[in-house]
Amino acid sequence: MSTGTEPTSAEIFDVIIIGAGIAGMYQLLKLRELGFSVKVFEAGGDVGGTWYWNRYPGCRFDSESYSYGYSFSQELLDEWQWSEHFAPQPETLRYLNLVADKFDLRSDIQFDSRVKSATFNEDNTQWAVALEDGSCTRAQFLISATGPLSAPQMPNIAGTEDYQGESFHTALWPRDPDGFGGRKDIDFTGKRIGVIGTGASGVQVIQEIAKSAQQLFVFQRHPNWCAPLKNGPISEKEQREIKASYPEIFNTCSENFGSFLHSPDSRLAVETSPDDRKALFDKLYAAPGFGIALANFRDIMVDPKANAIASEYIADRIRQRIDDPQLAEQLIPKNHGFGTRRVPLETNYYEVYNQDNVSLVDLRETPIERVTELGVATTEQEYALDMLIYATGFDPVTGSLNRIDIRGIGDQKLKDKWADGPQTYLGLQIEGFPNFLTLVGPHNGATLCNIPRCIEQNVEWVSELLVHMRSNKLAYVEAAKDAEADWTEHVAEAAARTLFPTADSWFMGVNLYAGGVPRYKAKCDEVAARDYEGFVLK
Ligand code: NAP
Repeated sequence: MSTGTEPTSAEIFDVIIIGAGIAGMYQLLKLRELGFSVKVFEAGGDVGGTWYWNRYPGCRFDSESYSYGYSFSQELLDEWQWSEHFAPQPETLRYLNLVADKFDLRSDIQFDSRVKSATFNEDNTQWAVALEDGSCTRAQFLISATGPLSAPQMPNIAGTEDYQGESFHTALWPRDPDGFGGRKDIDFTGKRIGVIGTGASGVQVIQEIAKSAQQLFVFQRHPNWCAPLKNGPISEKEQREIKASYPEIFNTCSENFGSFLHSPDSRLAVETSPDDRKALFDKLYAAPGFGIALANFRDIMVDPKANAIASEYIADRIRQRIDDPQLAEQLIPKNHGFGTRRVPLETNYYEVYNQDNVSLVDLRETPIERVTELGVATTEQEYALDMLIYATGFDPVTGSLNRIDIRGIGDQKLKDKWADGPQTYLGLQIEGFPNFLTLVGPHNGATLCNIPRCIEQNVEWVSELLVHMRSNKLAYVEAAKDAEADWTEHVAEAAARTLFPTADSWFMGVNLYAGGVPRYKAKCDEVAARDYEGFVLK
């Protein structure tokens, strides 16, 4: 069984990797160093993954920059300087380009090459990978590095194709190779602009557009709990301190639940006095980064009472920042508790709603009926717009895999196997799909993580597995059915012990492993130490 044109022998590799973002780049480097022949197919025109595609103004990460970069190369750590505590997208893309140049990664990456299908051949235990251009390549192993948030999602709204003005999805922002960070410089000055969506992307782009738009209409279905990012430049003194403390930085990350620099407070909110609670909340709200969620009382993500206390505090802070009390209530989430959806970190996000040029359109009161030639029509009125921006997110985690026709043993489609939700072993392998490894796949510890930290763990674990197989002359690895069933159940149980399932978002237990990175890593290590217990190897 094979797909498309049979490849010539020169086109057969040990490993094919799909995607040249942070995971694919490191996996390529690691396997190449270990002597495997590797080919990477990347849909984009260059390296960078998320940072290649998401070029919208305001795009940046919420991890401390120095906890985000790769840790594997001391030379790279010495060479690269982050300029801000939370680097903007152009800088991160420059960093990834430096990595690609420094380690000569591009020579094994084929760009502008979207994978259409991948089919397992039971006779030779190889994967046949076909691109959209009809070409086909084979390899013994297939590794997906497609990213958990890489399949942009348009909203389910009628008429999007009718709109006559300029329109962009944040994750498909137009590129200009000569522009700022490769971003096309789009002028918002004097324009009437609509943004649909108020997740992390929407919040970031709204902050920027509000600075110059003539009028900005924010079409909000549900508000999120946003909190201050408190970004700033890294001083020379801080730069020296960071460079000297990389081992401690990465060590702290490795010990924390989500591999961030923020460690939880050991106290319970429900057992702490109101004054002491306020003192911690005030401190965290004023501090940079994700501490407000991750360095908070350790019960806020597991105990509804503790969560309600934290939510009420953040609600009050939002009220303090919005001049119009009724508008403040529209911006305060009522359908989920603080932290149960991804907390967008912001810079003056709430203050933009005090500006005359910004209007909130609350879609719970006046839903969108359709997009029209002129703009957006709600049940109340038609908003004429010069530009419409979709900040409507992604088909998360499984989305990028489901967009490829992946077929395993007996021609079974991965999409069909996962029709009722993903089933995996360690979020890295799937029964019925031998020799296929999913970096940052569903159920993987890397999805609820300061992602490069977990990418390194995933990549190194997979690399060791391949070395083990090569050393032991093994050609086939597949998750055992019972190991997969146990892991899938464990993932659901771990989520059920948190408040994540109480919110409707991509950030749910079905997509990610909520047991914490240290436990995830320990489990992966234990499996490897026990000769890859739970895998069928032959
Ligand atoms: P998202 O969190 O899924 O948000 C999508 C937004 O679009 C939501 O506000 C959603 O409303 C809205 N929406 C979807 N369909 C709609 C419709 N038909 N009508 C009206 N509104 C609609 O997507 P995202 O903002 O792109 O963020 C996704 C993830 O990417 C984040 O959680 C984060 O992990 C990552 N990210 C990170 C950063 C960063 O590091 N700072 C920045 C951007 C993104 P509802 O809430 O009502 O569904």
